[in-house]
Amino acid sequence: MRQVTIARPVEFEGKGIHSGQWSRVRLEPARSGGGIRFVRADLPGRPVIPTEPGRVVGTRRSTTLGIGEARVQTVEHLLASLAGMGVWHADVLVWGEELPAGDGSLTTFTQMLEEAGRQEIEPDGRAVPVRSVPVPVLVEEGEATLVALPPVHGDEGLTLRYVFLSQHRGLASQQFRFAVQPGAEDAATFAREVAPARTVAFLSEVEALRREGLAMGEPGMAVLVGEEKVLTALRFPNEVARHKLADLLGDLAVLGPLAGTVIGVASGHALNQRLTQALSSVFQGGEAE
Ligand SMILES: [Zn+2]
Repeated sequence: MRQVTIARPVEFEGKGIHSGQWSRVRLEPARSGGGIRFVRADLPGRPVIPTEPGRVVGTRRSTTLGIGEARVQTVEHLLASLAGMGVWHADVLVWGEELPAGDGSLTTFTQMLEEAGRQEIEPDGRAVPVRSVPVPVLVEEGEATLVALPPVHGDEGLTLRYVFLSQHRGLASQQFRFAVQPGAEDAATFAREVAPARTVAFLSEVEALRREGLAMGEPGMAVLVGEEKVLTALRFPNEVARHKLADLLGDLAVLGPLAGTVIGVASGHALNQRLTQALSSVFQGGEAE
C-alpha cells in the first residue's frame, strides 16, 4: 500500500494554547510525498521546516520545531493527529509562531483531516520509511521512564502505553493503551478514542505559568484540577493519560512511522525528545544515548 496525503486543502485558525496569539494553519496535499513540512507562510522567504528529530528546538510544555530563526510552537497535537490517522505527507502552512489550539484536544485537527480526505501519494512519490525499533531503548529522568521495544513478530504498527502517575490528591493515577495502525478504519478509532482527550492543568500552576507567558489560552482547553478535585467535566475517566499518549505519539512522529511498542511512565515532552534522539541515533547505526 502506498502512503497517503490529504485529498484537498483545509484551514483552521484560532488562539495558541501557550502564547494566546491568533494564528492560521492551512494543510495542503503533498502528492509527491516528502513527509510533513511546516512552512512559515508569514515570514519573508517562507522558511520550510522539515519534520525531523534535528528540528526540535524546544520542549517546554509543548514541542517547538525550528530552522534558523523560524519557529512553529505546539506542533505535537497536529503531528499526533496526522500519525494517528496515518497521513505522513502534507505541507503545513502557518501564519504565526504557534499552531492554533482549538479546544486543547486533537479533535480540531482530526476533524480537519477527516474533512480533507485522503489519497495515495504518486507512484514515484517520496515515501517516508517505516522503521522498526531494532533494540530496546530506555531513557529516564527522576521517576519518568520511556522505553521503546522492538515489534512483536508480525506486528506492523506502533503500540503505545502511557502511565500517568498523579502526585495530586484531586486526580487519580491512570493509564491508557492504544495501537496505531495505518488504515482508514483505524483513523476513525483514533479520532474517537484519543483525539478528544485534553491535557491537565493544575490550578496552583496556572497563575505561575501565565506569569511566564505560557498557558495564555482559554480555561476550557485543559482538564483543570483544583486543590481537592477535578473542576472540568471529563470526556473519559482516564482523559489525562489518553492526552499524554497523544503527546507522546506526536513527539515520536518526527521519526516518521514506527513499528514497535513504546511505554511511557510519567514522561513529558523533554523526555519524549530524548527518546526520539536516542532512537534516531540507533537508526543511524550509532549507540543509544
Ligand atoms: Zn498536549
